[in-house]
Amino acid sequence: MKEWEQRALLREQEDPRRRASVMERLIEGLTAQIPTLLAAATLLFGVVAAWHLLFARGRPDAVALGSYTLVAALVCGVAAFWTRRGTIAPERAHISVFALTLVAAAVSFAHLALTGDLIHSFSFMVILMAAGAFFQDGRRLAVAGSVVVLAWVVGIQVVDPSPDGLAPAAMGMFSAVVLTTTISGYRIGALRRLESLNLELQDQIGFDPLTGIANRRAFYERLENVWERLAGEDEPLALIMIDLDEFKNLNDTRGHGEGDAALRQMGGVLRMGVRSTEDLPARLGGEEFAVLLPRTIEEHAIMIAERMRAAVMYTRIPNPGTGGDEILTASLGVALAWPRDGGDPSELMDRADRALYKAKHGGRNRVVVDDGRKPPDRAPYHDHFEKPVPGLEPRRDGVPGTP
Ligand code: GH3
Ligand code: MG
Ligand code: MG
Repeated sequence: MKEWEQRALLREQEDPRRRASVMERLIEGLTAQIPTLLAAATLLFGVVAAWHLLFARGRPDAVALGSYTLVAALVCGVAAFWTRRGTIAPERAHISVFALTLVAAAVSFAHLALTGDLIHSFSFMVILMAAGAFFQDGRRLAVAGSVVVLAWVVGIQVVDPSPDGLAPAAMGMFSAVVLTTTISGYRIGALRRLESLNLELQDQIGFDPLTGIANRRAFYERLENVWERLAGEDEPLALIMIDLDEFKNLNDTRGHGEGDAALRQMGGVLRMGVRSTEDLPARLGGEEFAVLLPRTIEEHAIMIAERMRAAVMYTRIPNPGTGGDEILTASLGVALAWPRDGGDPSELMDRADRALYKAKHGGRNRVVVDDGRKPPDRAPYHDHFEKPVPGLEPRRDGVPGTP
């Protein structure tokens, strides 16, 4: 699955309003019943085959019809067995193709020996090989196989327009097409489920696959926990909200692929920009990020935010037509809370959001601090930061915005 598909799926999962369509539910329901349907088909084809073969009395057409249905029963039986066991693994798919090819060859020669009918004996071969091909791959082969079978049957009618040629050929085609599309559909469905399970798992472990940093869920979970803990310890919690500037323009001018690449780079920028494992950079969605900084006073949060803003500029990702250097920039809002003093995480989020809003309206590419905070009796510096924090020492290379 491609990255954009993954993201689309993730977004769907994030959006509880989205409900599966009737068609999706129908397909889902049918897919779940495939093993049962195949078992029923096995039984049906088996009975028809037995009937024709037992009462053929040497009539070649009855023998031919009986052997066709016998093969169909066999194929359905094998497919029922496999689909009951879940996904058809690639290595089994190859074995199944090989087995089907052997069956096709055997039945074709038996048919030829019994009836001397060269054309129909070969049609076994074609039908079953097409069926086999579908085991191996998805939709494209299913369509290609169906076209081959159809062409073959039409071809037979052109060469031999007698009506008795039609019944076995049509039945063979029917079973091949039905079987192979259901089987490939089943396999695709199983893979899809596996993939969405995988995405769900990634979501549950709190990971954003595109940027490699925490996702929204993990962020909120951590915010709640950290809030509780810091309330107990009487420590501050700083929050930085980040929104990339004119990102839509980047997508529009340079394409979604470049947009995704930029987002991926932002994951790296934020990861590099934080200090400890306690700090948590996260992607909240789209081109919006947040960084949780526990035990961090405002001055340091601002410093970190400024450094992140500079780092975004230093990646020098082109964003044509946006003025200035025409590079991608970010706006950041910083807010600080002392959880022991009351309030709640969502209020902190709101304040950081408001600061970000001001940064956007103040001309973008800047850090704005929320000013509705800071109890006056707090000491400006905390013990933790008396000694320089690794990576946070003032730098001499004049990174813009770094004190
Ligand atoms: P502003 O400076 O006001 O923030 O402008 P903006 O264009 O960044 O803001 P807006 O919210 O209008 O556009 C955000 C765009 O981000 C819209 C969408 O095309 C893009 N976007 C959101 N998620 C993704 C993604 O996963 N990949 C890519 N490539 N683009 C995304
Ligand atoms: Mg936005
Ligand atoms: Mg934006």
